[in-house]
Parts: sequence; C-alpha cells; structure tokens
Amino acid sequence: MKIEVTNPPEVVVTCASCEACCCRLEVLLITDTGVPERFTEIDRWGGETMARLDDGWCAALDRNTMMCRIYQNRPLICREFEMGDSDCLVERAANYQTEATVKACFGTTEF
Ligand code: SF4
Ligand code: SF4
Repeated sequence: MKIEVTNPPEVVVTCASCEACCCRLEVLLITDTGVPERFTEIDRWGGETMARLDDGWCAALDRNTMMCRIYQNRPLICREFEMGDSDCLVERAANYQTEATVKACFGTTEF
C-alpha cells in the first residue's frame, strides 16, 4: 500500500541538531576578538587562522558537546555565518551525504 504524504513536516535547520558542519571550514582571523593563541595557527600565506585538528574540526570546538568553547571570543567570520542561510545549507549537505540528510537540509533531493 502506498500512502501519500500531503503535509510533510517543515524542515527545521538548527545548530542544535547539526554536528557543527561549519566548524570544519577554514576561518581566517581578520579582526582581534580575543581568540586564545593556542587555538590559532599561521597558514601558508602568512594569514592567521583557527587551527584545525586531525579530525578536521576547529581546535576550539568541544568534541563532546560539539559547541564552541570560545563563543564569546569567536572570530568575526564565525559571528557572521548565519544558521539556515545558503552557506550553512551547503555545509550541512556536504557533511551529511545520505539521501535522507540531504532531504533534511534542502527539503528535496531533486536539483
Ligand atoms: S550554522 Fe549551519 S552548519 Fe553551522 S552549526 Fe549551525 S546549522 Fe550547522
Ligand atoms: S571558533 Fe568556534 S564557531 Fe568558530 S569555527 Fe571554531 S568552534 Fe566553530
């Protein structure tokens, strides 16, 4: 038997159900927000960035809670990265590669 779904639930994009996908991106420090030096490194072009550990995530991310440990001092780029905007959705889709999770991010798998 096939049951038609006429009222699919609204897709809710929230950091609370996200494995900090955006915290695997390179984060350039372009202003001084007080990021502790132990979480930073210098990239090959001489720019100061957030350090990332072998698992790919930012050094300042708490691996147990998947939350930022320096939230009050997080870089400007992190402050401007908006939950639910196009960059956020792209990162979520890139990190959750199954059909179900792509659908959860975009509401469809048809592009
Ligand atoms: S901003 Fe988007 S990608 Fe980053 S943690 Fe929140 S939901 Fe995930
Ligand atoms: S500083 Fe915080 S918000 Fe920015 S990438 Fe690292 S863990 Fe994520």
